[in-house]
Amino acid sequence: MQELSLAQLRASFVNTSRREASQATPEQDLASVDWEQLSLLGWRDAHNPQRAFVIIPVEDRHVGIMLTAVPSPPRKAMCALCEDITEVSDVKMFIAKAAGAAGRKGDTLGTLIHADFKCSKYARRFPSRLEGQDNPEAFIAARVERLRENAERFALRVLGEAH
Ligand SMILES: [Zn+2]
Repeated sequence: MQELSLAQLRASFVNTSRREASQATPEQDLASVDWEQLSLLGWRDAHNPQRAFVIIPVEDRHVGIMLTAVPSPPRKAMCALCEDITEVSDVKMFIAKAAGAAGRKGDTLGTLIHADFKCSKYARRFPSRLEGQDNPEAFIAARVERLRENAERFALRVLGEAH
């Protein structure tokens, strides 16, 4: 994804108050982020473990979404964004308030996401023997594209622009 400054990142939020957006602070120093290897940027709030933020590229814009983790006992699940079938033990249900008028009415959307938001890394992992290792580049490219599509669809749903 394209590199973002802290100001651009905070300005991208679509379902927060201005105050909530101004307090969103990624866990990693933005100068050390390897943007080329990222399909999305997500993190848990250091001061509120139930709160998380994710920035999703959608065509030429970035859509920032605030999420709330649903407290639940650990169970195995597939992340709806990267759909990785090997990393299934740290996947949580997150709820996003819808953007705009729908959100003010109380509409929310839920999705299963890796609690560490490392979907970009999981989508880029080397295929297992069962997944076919003769063309790992094609395998990884297809998974990265799938993650991009799933993340974009989720962002458009939050925006109320999904078809
Ligand atoms: Zn994932």
